[in-house]
Amino acid sequence: MEALEVMNPISGDTIGFVNTTPLHTTTLMYDQARKAFNIWQNKSIKERLHYISKLKHTIVEQLEEGIDIIHQDAGKPKVEAITADLFTVLDTIAYLEKHAEKTLKIQKAKTPIALIGKKSYTSYHPRGVVLVISPWNYPFQLAMNPVINALLAGNCVILKPSEVTPLVGQWMESLFEQAGFPEHVIQVAHGGKELGAKLVSEKPDYIFFTGSDRTGKMIQQEAAKHLIPTSLELGGKDPMIVFQDAHFDRAVRGALWGSLTNYGQVCMSVERIYVEKKIYESFILELKNELQKLKTEPSDDADLGSMTFENQLQVVQNHVTSAVSKGAKIFSGNRSTLHEQKGMRIEPVILTNVNHEMEAIQEETFGPVINVIPFENEAEVIQLANDTRYGLSASVWSKDLNKAKRVAGRLAAGSVVVNDVIITIANPYLPFGGIKDSGIGRYHAQVGLQIFCHQKSIMVDRGIKKSEVNWFPYEGKLPHFKNFITSWYGKRKNVIKFLSSYFQLLRKSK
Ligand code: NAD
Repeated sequence: MEALEVMNPISGDTIGFVNTTPLHTTTLMYDQARKAFNIWQNKSIKERLHYISKLKHTIVEQLEEGIDIIHQDAGKPKVEAITADLFTVLDTIAYLEKHAEKTLKIQKAKTPIALIGKKSYTSYHPRGVVLVISPWNYPFQLAMNPVINALLAGNCVILKPSEVTPLVGQWMESLFEQAGFPEHVIQVAHGGKELGAKLVSEKPDYIFFTGSDRTGKMIQQEAAKHLIPTSLELGGKDPMIVFQDAHFDRAVRGALWGSLTNYGQVCMSVERIYVEKKIYESFILELKNELQKLKTEPSDDADLGSMTFENQLQVVQNHVTSAVSKGAKIFSGNRSTLHEQKGMRIEPVILTNVNHEMEAIQEETFGPVINVIPFENEAEVIQLANDTRYGLSASVWSKDLNKAKRVAGRLAAGSVVVNDVIITIANPYLPFGGIKDSGIGRYHAQVGLQIFCHQKSIMVDRGIKKSEVNWFPYEGKLPHFKNFITSWYGKRKNVIKFLSSYFQLLRKSK
């Protein structure tokens, strides 16, 4: 059996191996999932919640272990492992415990007057076997959140976590086991893109994919062959717009955190900062000061961790080198400690004198690079911010909330934060997702459960009349239908004429 190497990105040391799932076993996994679905789909939401709540308690009991695993496998600071990976999952479960039943309950729908005598409602039904494919940057959160929602909605799930963070994949598998889910309700497949592609080819009933737009587009093409519905949570090139009336210190700190949390490997990272000309120079100066204060020594208090994936390191270096060769100015803190190790820690940099012709401004860098660009006015900055193929998230900074909200409304993005960054994803009551090349669909909040269901529309007639007005025979009905429409939808409503045409139609339908 082949194995995935577990590498600690901070030290560069190999710290273990995780066995991969053989490609030839995927058909069996689907067969097992489909059998398990027959039972799981018939459990009530309360019964399913019992397992999900147990999962929550298991995670909390193993908090220390979880922090260490995420920290070692992804190279992120422990504070980020707990806040961005573990907390968000626990908070999602808490949200679902409160709202899942209501979200998936039967919803009454109105029935229009033309269908008088009937009752309408909608109900939610699980889709079947859901395939969740997840990335390495938030290896716990971005796998667990869709898996938990899909399970709770009554589906069986096959999860393929990222091969770059296999230790987290293995830990999630053990958490599901400990939570005692019935056999094959949730299965974890360990491996790389070949395994991901094989799992897609097995025709799941829904695919929830989080990763690069390149892979997302390939998966969408495969899914289209069988009309498999998908959610695609893809990359971003998020703009941060700082007006001169923003709280200066807060904006600088927000820019630094938004650019460098998780070493910049965040789909909603601040990848472009536009600063109003009057405060541009002082903003850069303060950004440089604050950058140099960040703690990089590996410890529980470290602000910065490491890059996680070697290939991404190359992308970051290419973007910086290319921008500098085209005239960008580079500033870095020159921390010798970052270079002394053999891991993947590179120097965070501030790039100025950058423009929209550069890859560093057009393509997702996904690393510790802070691009700062001056702007003159509101119209110009909206145009600049929207000049990208991505549309995941954005932020606007100003004390004038009317202006900030006005600009937020004109940004082409799935979410916008005013005077903060990234944080919409932490609110389980807000739907999350992107537009343009940042993806298709939304999750979190009510829609996060509902996407994993078919919505069925049901209309009930008591079945005591012999016929309906719209059924055969049509003889003599046309003038009454005309009156029906003109009296009800015409400029002036005529209830008497409407009722009379309706009774004529009823009479002709006896
Ligand atoms: P990736 O696309 O390389 O891989 C993501 C997952 O897809 C991995 O599990 C991988 O094994 C699998 N995969 C790769 N090729 C496949 C194929 N042909 N068929 C099936 N599965 C395949 O992305 P990544 O490098 O792991 O993650 C980084 C990207 O994810 C960035 O672009 C980032 O912006 C994006 N991302 C988006 C969100 C979001 O919510 N919008 C969140 C985090 C990350």
